[in-house]
Amino acid sequence: MSVFDTVKEAANLAKEHGRMDLYEKLLDYRAESVDLREQNLTLKQQILELNNHRELDNSIVFHDGVHWITNDEKTQGNVPTPICPRCWDVDKVVVRQKLGRYGSSGSSFTCKNCAKFFCDIHSFPKT
Ligand SMILES: [Zn+2]
Repeated sequence: MSVFDTVKEAANLAKEHGRMDLYEKLLDYRAESVDLREQNLTLKQQILELNNHRELDNSIVFHDGVHWITNDEKTQGNVPTPICPRCWDVDKVVVRQKLGRYGSSGSSFTCKNCAKFFCDIHSFPKT
């Protein structure tokens, strides 16, 4: 039996015995419990999001003017993925980039989100 069922049962008993003051207090308690349960669910969701963000943050490395996700789920972690440093640093948004050629040995991209141009990027060093 859940706490909510127990309180409901207690409220009904109070009502049956004519203890309307106790009945109303138990209903108030039950309503507050529902609010607390909703707050608890919200906090659990925030903790999950923060943990996911922390894991992602731990896998991001700054190299050659660009951030790289070194263990990217989207690529099964095989190839470091360049992401826009502006979007990550300012908005904490991961915007994966596809590198194009730049000069004789570098790469470049224009962020699909903020439209900033990054050039002369060299591949992430293999570990
Ligand atoms: Zn960007």
